[in-house]
Amino acid sequence: MTRCLDCGSERTGDQCPACGLTSAAAEVVFRKRLLVQMGIFLVGSLLFPTLSQVYPPLDIDAMLVFYGVVFFMALTLAIVLDRRARARKEIELLKHLFTGLIPIPFILSVALFLNGKLDSKKELTYHATTVEGRYLMRGLVRGTKRVFVYSWREGRKYERLAVDADDYDRFHTGDKVNVAVEPGALGIPWFYGVYRATGIKFSPPPPGAKWEAEKPQPQTGSPKPNSQ
Ligand SMILES: [Zn+2]
Repeated sequence: MTRCLDCGSERTGDQCPACGLTSAAAEVVFRKRLLVQMGIFLVGSLLFPTLSQVYPPLDIDAMLVFYGVVFFMALTLAIVLDRRARARKEIELLKHLFTGLIPIPFILSVALFLNGKLDSKKELTYHATTVEGRYLMRGLVRGTKRVFVYSWREGRKYERLAVDADDYDRFHTGDKVNVAVEPGALGIPWFYGVYRATGIKFSPPPPGAKWEAEKPQPQTGSPKPNSQ
């Protein structure tokens, strides 16, 4: 082996010229640090699914997929690093990749939280649309509840709204609804609420809200309250 497991400097003998650790001692130090780093990463990983629900972005599912990829990459890297350290093999590149992944769940969580928290609440935009379907996945804490509506955004067919249990129960396929969206302080649009369209365009009366014209819907039949 050429590099110290602990500090990464080139070594000629068994003892590292930079940190003074023998290769056995450096292995112990490295694997202990790996465990701590993995612990920090897991804390961030618990934070993300929770914090992302507070001000759920419209694209929450895409972000959860990205987060899942990061999670399994970090997990795999940690296992590979541990094995390579035991075998006293070169780990420098993988070590840098791993430490680069650690802050990602924290950065994502904090960004999504601030994106909603710092939003002024004055730029709520209401979009008239129709419920197309629902999705429920039971989870340990809250589960995943989505109401699908026809999208008002360019190039998209549906929006997957991260609703709470009440909204999940109250809306069904075919319901006419108004979806309130905040632009987000960091430019990530997030889902503020969904309201039943009452025929009167404003429900509830949104002070200073701007309306966008309803996009033509593929089906405009009468609401079917109990179909899913
Ligand atoms: Zn060293």
